[in-house]
Amino acid sequence: MNSAADTYARLVATLKKIATLGSIAELLGWDEETYMPPKGAEHRATQRSMLAREVHELFISPAVGEMLSEVAASDLVRDPESDAAVNVREARRSYDRAVKIPPALVEEITRAAVLGQQAWTAARKYSDFSAYAPWLGKMLDLKRQEAACVGYSGHIYNALLDEFEPGQTAEALRPVFESLRKQLVELIGKIVSSGRKAPIEILQRRFPADVQEKLARSASELIGFDHQAGRLDVSVHPFCAGLGPGDCRMTTRYDEHWFGDAFFGVMHESGHGLYDQGLPAEHWGTPRGEFVSLGIHESQSRMWENLVGRGRPFWRFFFPRLKAALGETVRDVSEEQWVFAVNDVQPSFIRTEADEATYNLHILLRFEIEQAMLAGELAVDAIPSVWNSRMKEYLTVTPPNDAQGCLQDIHWSHGSIGYFPTYTLGNLYAAQFFEQARRDVPGLEDQFAKGQFAGLLDWLRRNIHIHGKKYRAAELVRRVTGQEPSAEPLMRHLKAKAAEWYGV
Ligand code: ZN
Repeated sequence: MNSAADTYARLVATLKKIATLGSIAELLGWDEETYMPPKGAEHRATQRSMLAREVHELFISPAVGEMLSEVAASDLVRDPESDAAVNVREARRSYDRAVKIPPALVEEITRAAVLGQQAWTAARKYSDFSAYAPWLGKMLDLKRQEAACVGYSGHIYNALLDEFEPGQTAEALRPVFESLRKQLVELIGKIVSSGRKAPIEILQRRFPADVQEKLARSASELIGFDHQAGRLDVSVHPFCAGLGPGDCRMTTRYDEHWFGDAFFGVMHESGHGLYDQGLPAEHWGTPRGEFVSLGIHESQSRMWENLVGRGRPFWRFFFPRLKAALGETVRDVSEEQWVFAVNDVQPSFIRTEADEATYNLHILLRFEIEQAMLAGELAVDAIPSVWNSRMKEYLTVTPPNDAQGCLQDIHWSHGSIGYFPTYTLGNLYAAQFFEQARRDVPGLEDQFAKGQFAGLLDWLRRNIHIHGKKYRAAELVRRVTGQEPSAEPLMRHLKAKAAEWYGV
């Protein structure tokens, strides 16, 4: 037997073993958020940290590095799009990152994240930024060390961004985000001064959790989520975890006086789930069977949540079903009022509660602040005032306190710096993909109005899901749409909606 092929087979087996152990850890994580009794927390921490160490040690062993080098020097990778080439390229990228960061630094970051998160939770509760500031300063210092170990060109931010969005840089994002910001600030200003208000009170009536669950579940089935290969449960922070072929766990939470939270939350997580269910199962455990990046993952959830789920065609089909399920509660509500309500746009303080249009300004502000604080151009103590003045400038509102301002997100306390841009990238990619799907699939939205979503799902499967990590995000966008990643499709979508609902 050809020895490179032999080595490649061993490499794949090792990667699959690592991924299998990782998925066991993830299943424990899912259980922790959903069903674990409170007193199980300590033992669970032991289980998870033991597995995490096991997985890390397996991955960073010199044997993996040698296998990667041997396959990389062979004919197996001659075609850069071959399975072997994709697996070697992406496994090498993760491997180098993992071995370059000394275990002592990994441990220190993990510790600072646990303690920092506790400090953040308390600081947010009392809206006391000064209590959290030293922890943020410590985490920034550790992340700068991490960046120095990993290496980067251009802005130091690139070293951290690359973990979440491989190949993406601050320099490439800036002009795209800048163009988005200018257009959004102008558009939102017009919406606010239009004087029109969406009838959001119809979403604030009493909606029993069991009825919400039934509706959310039927919507997720309708768009193609396979509930025989996944589950929907309840957790405080909604998420979706693809545990492996045939097993995708998503969660939501029910607010009986706010319809939007669970319904659109489940549409969102179903979008993530459909991507996981569409990845090539035979490549599971290797990069060829993995999602491209967080931005591409988010493009799938945003597409189903916003571009499909808030659209008129979806509600043309679904509104009669909603009315039947909710009875008296919405008897006086018209389809027109309902669709306007779910497309409400108004500036607010909290990112996770923001609408489709204002959401991105929350991200752009974080992207700017993260770069400045990481580069040491913005002192930690100055973050609240810079945050508030940018909120005023971009969204015309000033948070009444830091809990509703710079303390609202968990990300920095976890050490997830460089993560935020992937949310807006997801929105941009979603709009760009959706424009292309409309061109490629005639009558796409007429199908939605008849309750048929397979046309879009098949398109996503063929163009995006099936490739796993074969292409980097920007390359995938170029291949699928023939265009560079851009803010224009999202702006066209938001402007069309603003014209329709707000007459601006
Ligand atoms: Zn998401």
